[in-house]
Amino acid sequence: MTAHASASAAGSAVPQFDAVVIGAGAAGLFCAAQAGQRGCKVLLIDHAAQVAEKIRISGGGRCNFTNRDLDPQAPHKHFVGQNPQFCRSALARFGPQDFIALVQKHGIAFHEKHKGQLFCDRSAEDLIAMLLAECAAGGVTHWQPCSVKKIAFLASSAEDTSAGSYQIDTDRGRVRTRSLVVATGGLSIPKIGATDLGYRIAQQFGIPLVERRPGLVPLTFDGQDWAPWAQLAGLALPVRIATGSKKTHMAFDEDLLFTHRGLSGPAVLQISSYWQEGTPLAIDLAPGAELPAALAQAKLQSRKHIANALAAFVPSRLADAWAARDPEWQRPINEASDKALARLAAQMTRWELTPTGTEGYKKAEVTLGGVDTRALSQQTMEAKAQPGLYFIGEVVDITGWLGGYNFQWAWASAHACALALAAPAAT
Ligand SMILES: Cc1cc2nc3c(=O)[nH]c(=O)nc-3n(C[C@H](O)[C@H](O)[C@H](O)COP(=O)(O)OP(=O)(O)OC[C@H]3O[C@@H](n4cnc5c(N)ncnc54)[C@H](O)[C@@H]3O)c2cc1C
Repeated sequence: MTAHASASAAGSAVPQFDAVVIGAGAAGLFCAAQAGQRGCKVLLIDHAAQVAEKIRISGGGRCNFTNRDLDPQAPHKHFVGQNPQFCRSALARFGPQDFIALVQKHGIAFHEKHKGQLFCDRSAEDLIAMLLAECAAGGVTHWQPCSVKKIAFLASSAEDTSAGSYQIDTDRGRVRTRSLVVATGGLSIPKIGATDLGYRIAQQFGIPLVERRPGLVPLTFDGQDWAPWAQLAGLALPVRIATGSKKTHMAFDEDLLFTHRGLSGPAVLQISSYWQEGTPLAIDLAPGAELPAALAQAKLQSRKHIANALAAFVPSRLADAWAARDPEWQRPINEASDKALARLAAQMTRWELTPTGTEGYKKAEVTLGGVDTRALSQQTMEAKAQPGLYFIGEVVDITGWLGGYNFQWAWASAHACALALAAPAAT
């Protein structure tokens, strides 16, 4: 237990902080460190025994901590939410290069994998150690594990409710603070500590929420319909996947993975953040292959079975499963009708299927929706109608694409908030 907690337990005066940050994940750790280093007295609370569980498991244990392709001037390209432009100010003031500079300052080796995605060479633990060292440099007090029981806003006076402080009751005692930062993340992966506390705090103070749903999540299909494809579980291939139409149309060129219950892989995780229930996906299983012309050409040159000819363009297990769907596709290609080949090419390049659902929060990487950005200042992340209350990271209705964008939002929103926390302290 820290000195502050001991003082409280001994019944002395209620410990007072400039800022209390709830949630020691990516955003909370970074905000606490930055505010602490700027002179704020900061308490960081988390109910989990360990900090930053999501950093630890992210990127297959190597944490895809940012993305070089992020364009702060055009956040709508890589962020989803009712108003992706909200993150522009924070990202412009703390972009990928700023976080890369910090990682380099700590001597952490990293590499670019794919489409601008940066990963630690060794382990995500290196980043966690970096964030803890930054917190130590800011003199941050940690209470962990520590549960928040009650939060109250104490207005300065009955006449002036536009200023005051927050009183937080925890299982380690009571604290007071000028500023309260909510960095409790989203609902995904409850077994490593995700809760709805941040949303409940928003509701307590009358701050609107955008409906939450799992994002970056595998999609599932009706058991019987899926049975013929379930045998392909484990198979991966590059595809072009699309959903929506006209203004809502969205497409990704990424890898698709067949699972026992449906589809996953980067292509599906990306599209899941745009997919609306009850609507179909359109998947090109052989992007760039010009399949109609290629099959017509193969018919003139080959006596291979159609499945074998198809295997030049897609994995052979998929070619076999696809050819098995129609007797006209179960013959040598030179004996197939032009019509049958054209139908095969058309269906494989526009495979339309409607998911019945998602794998839910137990498998989702993120939560879409959250604290409505219209209620927050985009410069500081402070609630417009509730002085001293801030929301940062994933709890806000800003969701990034797969590829390091979510962590960059956590760093940038934390940084914007920390500057605001430190501003009055500096005067
Ligand atoms: C499997 C997986 C892999 C991912 N990989 C990547 C990746 O490679 N790149 C990327 O950019 N993004 C990735 N993400 C998304 C990324 O982890 C999150 O967007 C990011 O962690 C959000 O940061 P945050 O600080 O807002 O929330 P979190 O990091 O989730 O931190 C929230 C903290 O609040 C604490 N908390 C919650 N409830 C309470 C409570 N009631 N009381 C006290 N404390 C509480 C939690 O214990 C946690 O420590 C991944 C997510 C998952 C699940």
